[in-house]
Amino acid sequence: MLLSNFKHLREGVLYVLFPRTCYSCGRDLPLGAPGPLCRACQEAVEEVGPRYCACCGQPLPDGGAHCFHCRGSKIRRRQCTLIRSAWVFGPQVRALVHAFKYADQTYLADFLAEYMAQKWALYPELAQAQLLLPVPLHPRKQKARGYNQSELLARQLGEKCHLPVDSCSLVRVRNTPSQTGFGREGRLQNMSGAFACVRPGAVQGKIVLLIDDVATTGATLEGCAEALKAAGAKKVMAYTLAREI
Ligand SMILES: [Zn+2]
Ligand SMILES: [Zn+2]
Repeated sequence: MLLSNFKHLREGVLYVLFPRTCYSCGRDLPLGAPGPLCRACQEAVEEVGPRYCACCGQPLPDGGAHCFHCRGSKIRRRQCTLIRSAWVFGPQVRALVHAFKYADQTYLADFLAEYMAQKWALYPELAQAQLLLPVPLHPRKQKARGYNQSELLARQLGEKCHLPVDSCSLVRVRNTPSQTGFGREGRLQNMSGAFACVRPGAVQGKIVLLIDDVATTGATLEGCAEALKAAGAKKVMAYTLAREI
């Protein structure tokens, strides 16, 4: 009883000294707020919804099995056979990802991975995964940032979903120019050959799930899958925190 009173008192003092604010709108968060967003921003976060492309996971407001980019013969060339995401990459998620990636707010990994774990059950295909593999950064970029945000997500998610995480076998061998400004085909070409699997034995014959923060065209994931399939992975899928639409 005394201990619990002390804990509340300590939380109250910390709240007065260091009030937490919503990552998206900047409003003060109430004492004891569970996450990094205020209730209004949390409610405004867009879900992927029940209709999405069976291949790339793109939300499809009008229904159908596949989006425009995954119809017909285009699918057969894909090495990453399936992409799923927990959230749509709207303004609130963008603010969270930005803080997580560029402002050292690594403690957000637990909250974000918890959300990915909650949404995991919506996608029964993900249950096939035997190994989680974070999308690697180029060593130079990782040194500058100090951490790989996808690896932090994969580690937390691995614990929650009881799956092993391998952050050594896949490496980025080419520091590709920014994808911004490239069209869809350009992005795919830009990422082809950018990754290599340095420990083929770790992925051979396995169903691998790539983990990343945001999927846009899927070109980065495809680049990773290309390297993993060439190393003998049986199947490559991907699960990302957010999906840009
Ligand atoms: Zn807010
Ligand atoms: Zn698609």
